[in-house]
Amino acid sequence: MSSVMPTYARIDLAFERGEGPYLFAVDGRRFLDFATGIAVNTLGHSHPHLVEALTEQASKLWHCSNLYNIPGQTRLAERLCAHSFADKVFFCNSGAEAMEGVIKIARRYHFNKSAPEKFRVIAFDGAFHGRTLATIAAGGNEKALEGFGPAMDGFDHVSFGNANEVRAAITGETAAILVEPIQGEGGIRPADTRFLKDLRAIADEYGLLLLFDEVQTGIGHTGKLFAYEWHGVEPDVMGLAKGLGSGFPVGAVMASDKAAEGMVPGTHGSTFGGNPLAAAAGNAVLDVLLEDGFMDGVTKIGAKLHADVGEVAARHPSVIESVRGQGLMVGIKCKVTNLDLVAAMRERSVLMVPAGENVARMLPPLNIDENHVAEAVAALDDACGALAP
Ligand SMILES: *Cc1c(COP(=O)(O)O)cnc(C)c1O
Repeated sequence: MSSVMPTYARIDLAFERGEGPYLFAVDGRRFLDFATGIAVNTLGHSHPHLVEALTEQASKLWHCSNLYNIPGQTRLAERLCAHSFADKVFFCNSGAEAMEGVIKIARRYHFNKSAPEKFRVIAFDGAFHGRTLATIAAGGNEKALEGFGPAMDGFDHVSFGNANEVRAAITGETAAILVEPIQGEGGIRPADTRFLKDLRAIADEYGLLLLFDEVQTGIGHTGKLFAYEWHGVEPDVMGLAKGLGSGFPVGAVMASDKAAEGMVPGTHGSTFGGNPLAAAAGNAVLDVLLEDGFMDGVTKIGAKLHADVGEVAARHPSVIESVRGQGLMVGIKCKVTNLDLVAAMRERSVLMVPAGENVARMLPPLNIDENHVAEAVAALDDACGALAP
């Protein structure tokens, strides 16, 4: 029996190294990594620039605390703000922690405007915001809440995509609306532009904050640095994590000056958040993503992946129901069990991740090329052939 708490149903596979989009198992097998630790390894494995940046920082200073200025953190915040709606960034270590920060800012905003009774957040069915007590309440998933006592108060759930239900749910206690531009764990369910524009308009009309969870969609996975850019809709506060450090734990809460006004000294903190190592990782990722043309390349290769997966789906209508998502977030809604497709792909040396609504996800690194797409698509075609009833 392992001494590790058995909270995960683990696959019996262990890796010892990675190179680009490939992972090498301890038994020597090579896998094409279209899972990336769930949208984390933005630039694949052992990217030379990231390795160099992190080893250089590791030989100088790992940690010193937010008691002091951290120049790398300041630079990372400035760069994130320069390329987004945000004016201020708070650094933390994970997605759930980022979303905790997002929720706290929404409450604090109204407190700061002498309306502390406004603390409730309207969230959506099928959402996922993390595993802390506040974020399981925000997600509202019964299974995630079970056995952990009364759900934290302050979250109201309505149907994803339904602006009328949002309007109807607003009361004098409502502080904010919280949404993922594409529901990731929920099954790569994209919000449409109209819906997000409606949410922006509703938030403005009622004086609510619009909160985006871009923990999974952010950092280039949709073909833009942030998914909201596709819609011409900006949030007031947004959470980031997964891809920001390409495997080094870095989370961020991004906010407009208006939304963050109440976040004065002493209101929030994190021991590790944005330490020199984390900042070095985040800056190194941005060095690559902000290169001229890099994001256009993601859009292009994403379109190719969607088109080719779509062709496989058309050839195997008894296995694949539909293909959805954007950029390098591909959701394959299955007619067979999604876990069976993921396992069949793994047998063919390609890693994928299951999601809600019986979806199998492809979340490859952003720097893949057409050969990697061809390799994954050939495996998918073969797996579908084997799974067809
Ligand atoms: C993964 C995820 C989280 C939680 O991130 P952790 O780092 O696991 O805490 C929150 N929101 C979304 C949309 C996610 O995909």
